[in-house]
Amino acid sequence: MTQSVCILGVTGSIGQSTLKILNQHPDKYSVFAISAHSRISELVDICKQFQPKVVVVPKQKNDELAALFVENELQNIEILTDQEGLVSIASHPDVDVVMAAIVGAAGLLPTLAAVKAGKRVLLANKEALVMSGEIMMQAARDHQALLLPVDSEHNAIFQSLPHNYLDAERNGQPQQGVSRILLTASGGPFLNHSLEQLEKVTPAQACKHPNWSMGQKISVDSATLMNKGLELIEACHLFSISEHFVTVVVHPQSIIHSMVQYVDGSTLAQMGNPDMCTPIAHALAWPERLQTSVPALDLFEYSQLNFQAPDIQKFPALDLARQAMRAGGLAPTILNAANEVAVAAFLKEQIGFTNIPQVVEHTLQKLENSVADNIESILNKDEVARHVAQQYISSIGG
Ligand code: NAD
Ligand code: MG
Repeated sequence: MTQSVCILGVTGSIGQSTLKILNQHPDKYSVFAISAHSRISELVDICKQFQPKVVVVPKQKNDELAALFVENELQNIEILTDQEGLVSIASHPDVDVVMAAIVGAAGLLPTLAAVKAGKRVLLANKEALVMSGEIMMQAARDHQALLLPVDSEHNAIFQSLPHNYLDAERNGQPQQGVSRILLTASGGPFLNHSLEQLEKVTPAQACKHPNWSMGQKISVDSATLMNKGLELIEACHLFSISEHFVTVVVHPQSIIHSMVQYVDGSTLAQMGNPDMCTPIAHALAWPERLQTSVPALDLFEYSQLNFQAPDIQKFPALDLARQAMRAGGLAPTILNAANEVAVAAFLKEQIGFTNIPQVVEHTLQKLENSVADNIESILNKDEVARHVAQQYISSIGG
C-alpha cells in the first residue's frame, strides 16, 4: 500500500522538492491532491506526470484550468476552488500525508484542517504555526496528528532531540536533559552590509539567497532576519520551550542546520548540504529514512565553519519577533500580518528594505494585544493588522 499524499502549494519551491522525492519512491507514495495559486500551466504539467485525483485553484482560475484539462485529456481530475477546496483536500479521508507548503496566512485553515483530521502533517508553512501557536499544537494532541517540521532548522532540532521528546508533558521548560536550542541562521545576503547599504538594496538582491533557493517571500524574510524571528516562534511552539531557551546563532555556511544542548555539556547538531529534500524526506518517512539525491556532506570542501551573534541593530526584525513571542496572545499574528504586507510592498518597490521592520514595529505598537483563544479572533486580528500596516505604508509614501 502506498501512502496517499496531498501537497498544498505544489507549484512552490517546497512543493517542487516534495514532488522530486515522491517521484523517486513511487512504490511508497502516490499523489492524491495538489493545490496551486497562480502557475496554472505548471500545474497542468504536474497533473500529467502525477495524475492526482483532485486539484485546488482559486475560483477565477477554474475555467482556464478546466479548458486545459480538456485539451490534455485530464477530465477525470476533479477541480475544487478557494479555501473550502484546500480544507477539503487537506482533511480528505483518502489522504494520509499533507505537505503544508502554502506561503503565508493563506495556509492557516487548510493546515489546521489537516491537523484536526489527524494526518501526518509536514509543516513548511511556518506562518500558520506562528499565527495559531497553541491552538494548532493542542489540535495535534487532541486529534493524534503527527506534526513534523520541514523547516530545515526545526527538522534539525527534531533530529537532535531525545527520542519521544514531543510526547512528553510540556510547560515551556526544556526537559529530558535538554538545556538549550541553538537556532542557526545563514545571516542572509546582506550579512555584511552597513545600515546605509541596507537602505538601498533592491528586491532582486534580497531574493538572491547565498545558500538556499526559495520562494520570494521567505527569501526577503531571510534577508531581514524576520525568517529567523518567525522560526524562533515556530520553535517555541513545536518544542514547547520558552523563547529565552532559544539562542540564534549566525552560521553563514548553512551546513549545521541547528543544534540542541544538553545539561551534561553535549551539543548535538544535524548537518548536511543545504537542500530542502533532506528535511522533506525525513518528515515524510520518519522514523524511517528515505534515499534522496542530496549528495553526502563532504567536510573537506569546507575549510572552516563560522559562528557569530546576530546584529539586531541592523536586523531589528529578529528582536521584534522575540518580543512578540514574549508578549504572547495575538502579538505573533500582528507581527506576521504586518510583515506579509510589508514584504509585498517591498517586492513592488513601494517601500525600502529598512522600512519592512518599521512597518511591523508600527503595527505592533498601534494594535492592542489580547489572548488568542480561537481561530476567529486570530483571523480578525490578521485582517486588522494588514489594514493598519497598509495605511502606514501609504503614509510613508508607499
Ligand atoms: P513559494 O512562493 O515558492 O510557493 C508558495 C506556494 O503557495 C505556491 O504553490 C503558491 O501557488 C501557493 N500560494 C501562494 N499564495 C497562495 C494563496 N493566497 N492561497 C493558496 N496558495 C497560495 O514558497 P516556498 O519557498 O515554497 O515556501 C512555502 C512555505 O514553506 C513558506 O511558508 C516558507 O516559509 C516555508 N519554507 C520554505 C523553505 C524553502 O526552502 N523554500 C524552507 C523552509 C520553510
Ligand atoms: Mg528555515
